[in-house]
Amino acid sequence: TIGMLAIDAKGNISGACTTSGMAYKLHGRVGDSPIIGAGLYVDNEVGGATSTGVGEEVIRNVGSFLVVELMRQGYSPEDACKEAVMRIIKKKPETAKVIQVGFLAINKKGEYGAYAIQKGFSYAVCTEQKDDLLIPGKSYY
Ligand code: ASP
Repeated sequence: TIGMLAIDAKGNISGACTTSGMAYKLHGRVGDSPIIGAGLYVDNEVGGATSTGVGEEVIRNVGSFLVVELMRQGYSPEDACKEAVMRIIKKKPETAKVIQVGFLAINKKGEYGAYAIQKGFSYAVCTEQKDDLLIPGKSYY
């Protein structure tokens, strides 16, 4: 999945995502990306979140919606992403050892963060001051 989150000069937040789905997926499978609240969620009062990885686990936990709601409660973007990842790990610890799910989030202040189950999830940040194409996201494993 490629997920993008943006904030403009007035603090308006938007998001988009696209995906090729999973390899060897069943015909007709719907992943998390086209489901608002799962692969992508934006609330312009709070922030936005998007995900990558095994969509079934993201859908089960309404992952991106969860990340935004946690930010509403005061979590930083990274902590919100981490909590959503921990929710997945807690429900299915054995499955979580062998799958990847990663979340990326931005809040109303323009703070951003990410967290994934496995290593290797990186993201890019583009601002007027910064063009950083490979920020390693933190991970559980
Ligand atoms: N999240 C996508 C899906 O489950 C897979 C991906 O990360 O591209 O369809």
